[in-house]
Amino acid sequence: MADRMAPVGAGRLLRIMATQRGALGSIFDIHPSTWVAAEREARAANLMPVDVLNEGCTVPVGPAAGPHTHLAQSIVSAWLVGARYMELKTVQVLDELEIEKPCIDAADIGFNTEWSSELRLREAAREYVTAWLLIHMLAAIEGPDSPSAGPGTIFAMSVGYDYAGITGPAVDHFLNVMAGGGADDASWNRDRNAVADPDAGGLFAAVQAELVAEIDRGFGADGPWAGREVVARAAVEAAPREICRSVALSTMHGAPPEDIERIVVHLLERKGLDVVLKMNPTLLGMRRVAETLQGLGYQFELDPESFEHDLAWDEAMALVGRVAARASGAGRAFAVKLSNTLPVRNPGAPLPGKTRYLSGRALFPLTVELAARVATARATPISYSAGADALTIPRLLAAGVGPITVSTDLLKPGGYARLGAAVRAALTEMAGSDHPPGSVGPVDGDALAELARWARGSARYRARREPVTARLNAPLPLIDCFIAPCISACPIGQNVPGYIRAAARGKGAEALSIIQTTNPFPALTAALCDQRCAQACTRLEYEGPVQIRRMKGIALRCASAQAASSGDAATIAAPAPAPAPYANEVVVDGDGVTACSEAYFHVLAGRRAALRGGRGTVARAIAGALGAYRVPDGAIDEDLDRIARAGVRFGAGDAPERSDASAAAQTSDPSVAVDSQPRPMVVDLIAAGKAAAENAADTAGSGVASEVLPTAESSDTVSPRMSAQHREELLARPGGPVPPGRGTDRDVAAVESGRCLECSLVCLKCVQVCPNRANVAIPMKPEDGARDAYQIVHLDSWCNDCGNCATFCPYNGAPYREKFTIFDSASALKRSSAPGVFSGRDSVYVRWELDGAMETMTRAAATAAAAGPAVPPPTAASASATVSDDAQGLTSDGNRGVRSLLRRVLLDHACLLPGAPGAETTPTQRGDAPC
Ligand code: SF4
Ligand code: SF4
Ligand code: SF4
Repeated sequence: MADRMAPVGAGRLLRIMATQRGALGSIFDIHPSTWVAAEREARAANLMPVDVLNEGCTVPVGPAAGPHTHLAQSIVSAWLVGARYMELKTVQVLDELEIEKPCIDAADIGFNTEWSSELRLREAAREYVTAWLLIHMLAAIEGPDSPSAGPGTIFAMSVGYDYAGITGPAVDHFLNVMAGGGADDASWNRDRNAVADPDAGGLFAAVQAELVAEIDRGFGADGPWAGREVVARAAVEAAPREICRSVALSTMHGAPPEDIERIVVHLLERKGLDVVLKMNPTLLGMRRVAETLQGLGYQFELDPESFEHDLAWDEAMALVGRVAARASGAGRAFAVKLSNTLPVRNPGAPLPGKTRYLSGRALFPLTVELAARVATARATPISYSAGADALTIPRLLAAGVGPITVSTDLLKPGGYARLGAAVRAALTEMAGSDHPPGSVGPVDGDALAELARWARGSARYRARREPVTARLNAPLPLIDCFIAPCISACPIGQNVPGYIRAAARGKGAEALSIIQTTNPFPALTAALCDQRCAQACTRLEYEGPVQIRRMKGIALRCASAQAASSGDAATIAAPAPAPAPYANEVVVDGDGVTACSEAYFHVLAGRRAALRGGRGTVARAIAGALGAYRVPDGAIDEDLDRIARAGVRFGAGDAPERSDASAAAQTSDPSVAVDSQPRPMVVDLIAAGKAAAENAADTAGSGVASEVLPTAESSDTVSPRMSAQHREELLARPGGPVPPGRGTDRDVAAVESGRCLECSLVCLKCVQVCPNRANVAIPMKPEDGARDAYQIVHLDSWCNDCGNCATFCPYNGAPYREKFTIFDSASALKRSSAPGVFSGRDSVYVRWELDGAMETMTRAAATAAAAGPAVPPPTAASASATVSDDAQGLTSDGNRGVRSLLRRVLLDHACLLPGAPGAETTPTQRGDAPC
């Protein structure tokens, strides 16, 4: 596992794209259902491209210079969801930085410790050229637009940090190449593996040639790209060499104004570029920053030094005035960008180092206020980045601010789909805008001040005390990891997504039946449950958890209505008991919820069961234990009716016969004992009853029906399995919950069911949140015998250990360290402890489990693994250092799941392997060459 990414080269990237597009429809796991054809939508709304720094831009929204513009695949992914302003990851002369990892913490508000590009200058340029050419190719072969129209996309460079570095030969050459300059140059070829591109056309021509060679090898034979080779080649060959006309400048904290001015003037006048000057939120002054953050409930320790050393307000405004005049004199465009991140002290884990950099929603009120002040002081265009998202981008555009870039929001579940939603919102705003056609501005300081006031008073931007990510205390499985945190967090394992979906479809009886599989007290839990499920709900990471308890109440009312209309109350009875294998009746002592639950679960397991107390005694005991004033009228009777209909007998008194099981089950009933605060939680009482029944059954040598997994339900309720496409559509759906007390049951059910992500069927959060696309969903086939429809594969060379996937994976685990990984060299596999594979020319190297030994096998053995489960038995124990045809891991039963995954990779996704045809390591790739 390397903590730096190693670009795989344009040809291999295109091969991966073509294979994924043909086989899955998606590209880099971005499904077409979330793509945004920005040009088509703009045309439909009669929008013309807006002027952004002297360039036409279809929609001035896109990824900020940061993790989403590091690698070509990230930039292409942003383009697919409609982003048309790409602020490329910042580069600088020190291009061999060692960044401590993890470097991103986006669990709530964003923090990072990352800096400029982790790629060397030349590698970075290669990624940007590759993305530029791929986007032109995609615009031609995917879009409805004419290829000659171009993609309407702006690539803006970002450079740092001081005059010497920016004017030195290496960065200067970078600027030249990105602005369409010529031949390759030795100045940036300090990379030990780098070889100057051998032709006079330099890097641009070299990447072009690599892509054309890949196109000519034939791509997309069976997919939507079939027959598009000629168009693709023409688009790559015709793409303009001038990639960037503008540059965003980042300077060091504490850089003196005269140095900043010198750099801006150099870029404007000597390099002929349009310039965006990035400014810091420290401009607001420490007092104002502190009082705003404290007012919102944050308790960050600010860094006084950064306020002392950064530009003060007056000198900053004077500087802006001077460089704007120089820009105007040079016929170039100039804008300020608000804002950079805010340095705050780092209290420790998860990020390393003394300082962390604040971004995201906590920065929004500060930066909007700063934008308002700048707009009032200077008539300068403002580019924006700080906590913007689909809700606020339209308001920023309406205030004349643009382009707008996003980063933290895209690091959260939904990932690039969130950018697509923001682009759509921006297009809608632009369609109704009264700005001059083709223009973003002018900037309206009053509107920004109003937006800042709103943000300071909005709960959206306040510090949160409640959990913000769904978490389970369980290790991350290598295979079949999809899980619904709500089910796991529920003490009785209620199948929440199952009953929500059934209720939303109007199938009340079915919803109730699902509930009753694990819960004898639906009415009580619909009223009194403390909803641990909602505290773990994945939707926390969006606009708030699904209203699960409310949905249970709706399911009950829906079931009652259905029963009333059929005139048969029995249709909502408890699920049929299992066939009774025991003659003896279990008699449970106790009268409360726990005792009832124990008897109920005995019945579900096929026993006859009774409670010693009569109905009235039991009802009184339950009301007393839970607090009669809290229990809705009729709820206890409703539940006891259903329990009785399920087969539990009340009033057994001194029953004549008691089973061994019931003797073991004589547990005290906490629901009877407790009659004062704190009240017991009804769901815990049910869980205790279930556990008692299970213990009794164990004693009797029989199992009690255990928690029902979602896949075991009636097909009518949850099948077919939710596709990844369906999930992407759900993720892209805007809107929040229906506020309590509002909406009809039908409305609420539709909204909440639409918000439920059905996490047990598809998770893929690690895929969505990875800015580098380094986690890949591999679809499984029925013959693979996997439970989950997709398995996760990690790509070592695309990952820089930023840690973001570990933040959002619901398990106590890190997908980037623990999931099955494809390595680009045998030594990378050796250095890592992750399970994974490296496919060399003659041998295949596999580690089957975390921290396991590495096995090697011949390609023949690997082919056998790929051919199916009937792998020849081993004839001798394999040694990790010896290439063998019979590596033990291939035939071990314990590796069945991984073997299926390896088979799927070898058969269907060989494009991800370095040795695949067309997937040769590029000369510039860092690291070990394949064996
Ligand atoms: S989104 Fe649905 S399935 Fe996922 S945790 Fe929330 S309620 Fe459960
Ligand atoms: S796989 Fe995880 S750690 Fe690696 S780059 Fe992606 S999000 Fe970051
Ligand atoms: S985040 Fe990824 S690794 Fe974690 S459960 Fe979801 S799919 Fe599995």
